[in-house]
Amino acid sequence: MTEQSDTRIFSINQGDANMRIASAISELHLRYRDLSEGTVADYIPELSKVDPNLFAISVVTTDGNQYTVGDDGHVFTMQSLANPFVFGMVLDALGREHVRQFVGVEPTGNPFNAIVLDRATNRPMNPMVNAGAIAVTGLIPGDNPTDRLNRLLATFGRYIGKEPNVDIDVFMSEKSTGDRNRSIAYLMRNFGTLTRDIDEVLDQYFQQCSISVTCRDLACMAATLAAGGVNPHTGERAISRTALRDVLTIMYTCGLYESSGTWVHGVGIPAKSGVGGGLFAVVPGKMGIAIFSPRLDKQGNSVRGVRVCTDLARLLNLHLFVAGSETGFDDPCKDWHDAAANHGS
Ligand code: GLU
Repeated sequence: MTEQSDTRIFSINQGDANMRIASAISELHLRYRDLSEGTVADYIPELSKVDPNLFAISVVTTDGNQYTVGDDGHVFTMQSLANPFVFGMVLDALGREHVRQFVGVEPTGNPFNAIVLDRATNRPMNPMVNAGAIAVTGLIPGDNPTDRLNRLLATFGRYIGKEPNVDIDVFMSEKSTGDRNRSIAYLMRNFGTLTRDIDEVLDQYFQQCSISVTCRDLACMAATLAAGGVNPHTGERAISRTALRDVLTIMYTCGLYESSGTWVHGVGIPAKSGVGGGLFAVVPGKMGIAIFSPRLDKQGNSVRGVRVCTDLARLLNLHLFVAGSETGFDDPCKDWHDAAANHGS
């Protein structure tokens, strides 16, 4: 399942400005390839089988250029990387007011799998953590489970450019060890947040977590969010602008588990991480960034993913409240070039 390409840098339609992105990700891949901090998720047994050393960085710009380095062809499961996309799909199908009756928009400060609802409303806190994601999955429209899964895969296919597969081994592994999620689902049924059959909703949730992508696919998905909801490779719209606004907002405030505040402080762009080792970030109007590296920190974020994005944000001036400034917008890599020049002198 892996195309090993540890030192390869691949880019299409290279222009001068975009060569800077290629140089930056190449540099960061070299910088962090020997970093071995963190541990692979093992509470889902199938996830523990991954090679912890796998490492890929991919960027797709909103004009469709692609830059990628490392194990970018390795297929991994999305886990909660799927949450923003499912949230967007349900927002488009049912509208914001309806969806807000079932899920909140507040950062939790709790672990992603906490069996906790908002005390004031008895709703899950936000759609990026397990409780909120399960509630949102319970809203996916469709006539039956197969119809709902097909709609989900078709939606993901619009972001990727082709329909993805569900990894059956990971799905079965999650289903057979998913009692924590089952507890959350029963709690939500008690409060009327989940109205469908619990096993059916959980099966669908485990399926969406088990959707398989490569780092390249993930960067294209992120770039679609960056490009106003239109896939830059296919020209197909995957999400409305209205829903996109809500998706990016919640990713910004809640995308990195309990490190969400640290993330916006240090990196400053909407992002989402998942326990399969994927992490993606969106630079609106510019690019989607994806990193795959399975060793996680205590919160569940990819260690190398966070490091790469933190450095990339600094090198390319990506923080939303820096981008657009005189130095940031015109020369996104100015700091990096200055630093490189100083280093060389
Ligand atoms: N399938 C995982 C779970 O339900 C997703 C967790 C995550 O990636 O945050 O625990």
